Amino acid sequence: MGDAGAGAVISDFQVVIGLEVHAQLLTASKLFDSASTSFGAEPNANTQPLCLGLPGALPVVNQKAVELAARAGLALQCQVRERSVWSRKHYFYPDSPKGYQITQYDRPLCEHGQLSFELSGVSKTVRILRIHMEEDAGKSVHDASGSQSLVDLNRCGTPLIEIVSEPDLRSADEAVEYLKALRDVLVYLGVNDGNLEEGSFRCDANVSVMKKGAAEFGTRCELKNLNSFRFIKQAIEFEVGRQVELIESGGAVVQQTRLYDPDLDETRAMRGKEDAHDYRYFPEPDLPPLRLSREFIEGLRAQLPELPRARRARFATQYGLSREIEQLTADRALADFYEACLKAGPLDPRKLANWFIGDLARARNQTPTALAELKFTPAHVAELLGAVDGGTISANAAREVLGEMFESGKAPLQVIAEKGLAQVSDAGAIEKAVDEVLARSPSELAAWKAGKQQVLGHLVGQVMKAMKGKGNPKLVNELLRQKLG
Ligand code: ADP
Ligand code: MG
Repeated sequence: MGDAGAGAVISDFQVVIGLEVHAQLLTASKLFDSASTSFGAEPNANTQPLCLGLPGALPVVNQKAVELAARAGLALQCQVRERSVWSRKHYFYPDSPKGYQITQYDRPLCEHGQLSFELSGVSKTVRILRIHMEEDAGKSVHDASGSQSLVDLNRCGTPLIEIVSEPDLRSADEAVEYLKALRDVLVYLGVNDGNLEEGSFRCDANVSVMKKGAAEFGTRCELKNLNSFRFIKQAIEFEVGRQVELIESGGAVVQQTRLYDPDLDETRAMRGKEDAHDYRYFPEPDLPPLRLSREFIEGLRAQLPELPRARRARFATQYGLSREIEQLTADRALADFYEACLKAGPLDPRKLANWFIGDLARARNQTPTALAELKFTPAHVAELLGAVDGGTISANAAREVLGEMFESGKAPLQVIAEKGLAQVSDAGAIEKAVDEVLARSPSELAAWKAGKQQVLGHLVGQVMKAMKGKGNPKLVNELLRQKLG
């Protein structure tokens, strides 16, 4: 308790955080017209009359987007509505030429979900208030001289889901873990690409503080421009300090939208927070309510893949894995490949996991290769590791074989034969080499007799050298020990 600085003051307060996440849906075309959603196109190339806001253009709902949104809702244990409603949200901004955004307001597609995650070994569940569908806005590009602003409407009309959490988070670290878990789920589902820098997964953080034990939450501020997990943590921590200081010095927090500045590591007031009535929401007259049949929703539920958290738990119980799990399951395709290898051959799950995060990961680092582009199959992996396990090749030789499999896609046994990598397990051949080495190593023999155990390593090395590195090391060791007595 010696520290009477700002930390001691913050510790009198409870932090409360609710997150609003905007995630772009992985569709080929936009939410209400057939313009492409591809990233990095020429400015304004991906546009059509509707997203340009031309008069008379009518919206048509992209079914794939609805499927992805409902899939996300089901995976996050939401109730998915059979009838949800599109609304217009009005605001003026140059990157939104219609003058309104089509979104969902009082009848969103999904409600009442939840997401669980672990922080420092403790499990936490956060309630999800709602998930609604909406269209993205374009981008204003301000040139460096400050004399011109340009508008790029490529992103305008891209389908989004907004996932709104209840204010259940209690620290910046919890907020970051929630976001990582949410991103994992959406990427696993194929709903979103999880890219914070490109802005396809974006987060606004609502932050308030209250005296510990207070009955009511404090006034919140909404933080924007958080495009990395590190910035999210830093922005929340700065904002908590600012609010506590303000309250402790007799002031009051004003509800507002604040922009995080990563260069100065601070948040700055951007605008007063609008209330819903400022947006003049009303039901979208150009679109009927969105209707989904129960069968359609249940069909989507039946197709949900196993989610990351469940898969991690299963990898622990079914395969006895622990520290390898994080890396193995971070990418769904990698976890699928791992399980395909297990199916392809009798392999020890833990040895295979080690090979995945060791040799395979190193090889893929050297030659960056997407899993889908690998030239070898799970059966090849089983063959390779089977050859190591059976003593046909050493672990070292296996790395050489893997390199060749990467290059040419040749079967491991063929590579072993062509390169003469099989190790010698023939007891006669090994014994001959051992005898030769011992015959010319009288001083090592004497040292061994005098109790110097470390000469064994040297002698093993000599025998391996005599056998051009191909002696089965386990047999070489055994035979040497026998002969040394
Ligand atoms: P708005 O539409 O004005 O942004 P919402 O009711 O949709 O308001 O809430 C937005 C987000 O703010 C939600 O994620 C919610 O959890 C969070 N939130 C609400 N009250 C607080 C509070 N006092 N402190 C922190 N977050 C809050
Ligand atoms: Mg909001």
